[in-house]
Amino acid sequence: ALMITDECINCDVCEPECPNSAISQGPEIYVIDPNLCTECVGHYDEPQCQQVCPVDCIPHSPDHAETQDQLMAKYQRIHGG
Ligand code: SF4
Ligand code: SF4
Repeated sequence: ALMITDECINCDVCEPECPNSAISQGPEIYVIDPNLCTECVGHYDEPQCQQVCPVDCIPHSPDHAETQDQLMAKYQRIHGG
């Protein structure tokens, strides 16, 4: 899963791009639910939020490192595949 750092400027462009509705506005900055973020595996070749973030503040979460197979399994769990 990816994560949003405190460099987030709350611009809101990432939230509607997420195919898994994993992004939401938190108390101070936007946040990614690691249970829903598949790094866009199953939907797109590249993480869509990273593509649109103007300040490049969406890195991989070191606490949620996952393989492609794990991400695909998450995609199938979320979308009922
Ligand atoms: Fe959503 Fe994809 Fe960003 Fe994860 S990488 S939060 S699934 S847009
Ligand atoms: Fe924050 Fe980047 Fe999302 Fe904008 S696109 S809300 S700066 S994480």
